[in-house]
Amino acid sequence: MAYVITEPCIGTKDTSCADVCPVDCIHPAPGEDNADTATMLYIDPSECIDCDACVEACPVDATMAEDDVPAQWEVFKEINRAYYEQGHEAGETMVQEFLAARG
Ligand code: SF4
Ligand code: SF4
Repeated sequence: MAYVITEPCIGTKDTSCADVCPVDCIHPAPGEDNADTATMLYIDPSECIDCDACVEACPVDATMAEDDVPAQWEVFKEINRAYYEQGHEAGETMVQEFLAARG
């Protein structure tokens, strides 16, 4: 399993979760490439150790265990994964597609 960042991060992106993650698997953190322009932050599912620290840290309850993701945010599992497997642009494009579909 892994943790997932979901819709409430969009537009909030305060990066508290990246500060507390013990394995540094949440990006782009402040100062990293694309940090200023990213729509949201993303968890690397291949690195996450399911420690739960990002859940406490997030002020808008955007982070959650994969098994707790509600149906309307199911696509964010794929979005977080795609960000690391396919790159920044792929992840960002999927977020824009989600927002367009949501209306
Ligand atoms: S659950 Fe822990 S390891 Fe996984 S992203 Fe959150 S803080 Fe990082
Ligand atoms: S703490 Fe929450 S709102 Fe802030 S970057 Fe992390 S997931 Fe997004």
